Amino acid sequence: MTEQQKFEHVGGHPLIDLVNTEVIQGSLRVDQLADNADVIAWLLDVRLITEGALQFNWHDDPTLLMQVRAFRQQMRQMLVAIVAEQPVAEETMKAINERLQHWQAQPRLIRCDGGFEQQWDFAFLQPAHLVAKLAEVAVNFLTTINLIYVRRCGNDECIRYFLDTSKNHSRRWCSMEGCGNRMKARAYYAREK
Ligand SMILES: [Zn+2]
Repeated sequence: MTEQQKFEHVGGHPLIDLVNTEVIQGSLRVDQLADNADVIAWLLDVRLITEGALQFNWHDDPTLLMQVRAFRQQMRQMLVAIVAEQPVAEETMKAINERLQHWQAQPRLIRCDGGFEQQWDFAFLQPAHLVAKLAEVAVNFLTTINLIYVRRCGNDECIRYFLDTSKNHSRRWCSMEGCGNRMKARAYYAREK
């Protein structure tokens, strides 16, 4: 991935942003997670991991990319179902729970303003530990988000999803700068014809 192609986080939740790492550019489907380095860069970018917690040689790991892509595909299918107002499949639940079995974190007591807090210390020793972290993100998504506000971008040629947190829940585009402007321009030219 080149420097100017930074990840965009328009989904409103890291689970949606994970699915949104597949985008349409021009008319091509582009996978922004092209190699292990992209996966790690994305995880750092959304602050799901810290560099210090990465304790294996991920550069040369033969399965990291494959495992993350496989989970992402299952999450895409889940979003497709949610947007179609269908129940989340048992298969999906199973996929999430299987990944969670590799969840690796140690609770730690820390001081905070006038009291105490619990913090989780992570140690990622293998790809499955990273995917377990993604599975936990899926749990957070399903347990805290009102799923009726999950939308697919109104641009038919776009495959991004987002959480519509706008006041009257009328957001239509993954981003105003991208699809919003493009669709407005298209509507304008259609009127001018
Ligand atoms: Zn879009």
